[in-house]
Amino acid sequence: MRSLHIGLTGGIGSGKSTVAQTLVELGAALVDTDAIARRLTAPHGAALPAIAQVFGSEMVSAQAGLDRDRMRALAFSDPSARRRLEGILHPLIGETARAEATAATQAGAAAVVFDVPLLAESAHWRGRVDRVLVVDCEESTQVRRVMARSGWAEETVLRVIAQQAPRPLRRSIADAVIFNDTLSQQALQGEVRSLWSHWLPR
Ligand code: ADP
Repeated sequence: MRSLHIGLTGGIGSGKSTVAQTLVELGAALVDTDAIARRLTAPHGAALPAIAQVFGSEMVSAQAGLDRDRMRALAFSDPSARRRLEGILHPLIGETARAEATAATQAGAAAVVFDVPLLAESAHWRGRVDRVLVVDCEESTQVRRVMARSGWAEETVLRVIAQQAPRPLRRSIADAVIFNDTLSQQALQGEVRSLWSHWLPR
């Protein structure tokens, strides 16, 4: 039987990874597109030759893979560079994600969860999933959580939030929204569990 494909998204600090973890505990297979992107750009990663060709060999090294700080600085200051990088990475991420989902389905997973931070921005991804699950919270909560989790300065978190889809856009593409703002971790797990039994009745 084909597994249910769930697209999971949310702004930074919304609790998306926490929800993904609970879904895995319930039996879903997780396809983490950020992790795939990191592997593609790690030493010997499949994206490195194309990145070196487009951005110059100084952007990659055999020992460290992609120079992330340098690429981040370039992508922040030059939107066309960001688009060129995405033009290299997105097809490779899509291909890898598809292969991982096929393997999980063949192994009998009832559901495959695609963790896609940019799902709201990508019609392509939305067309590939059966359901979209959005994790949402107030911006002040995002800032507080990411400062605590990652030790970032407030303005760094705000800059990332400004680059992501606005909350109303993200909510507008959702089949279900989990509002993870004042929920305890336990209550959050309960919400995920009840959605799971709704979408995957035994
Ligand atoms: P994201 O993947 O969306 O960036 P995370 O799942 O990593 O967010 O959550 C950000 C931080 O907030 C983590 O440290 C996580 O443990 C914490 N967190 C998430 N949801 C809750 C919650 N309901 N109660 C308390 N802490 C939470």
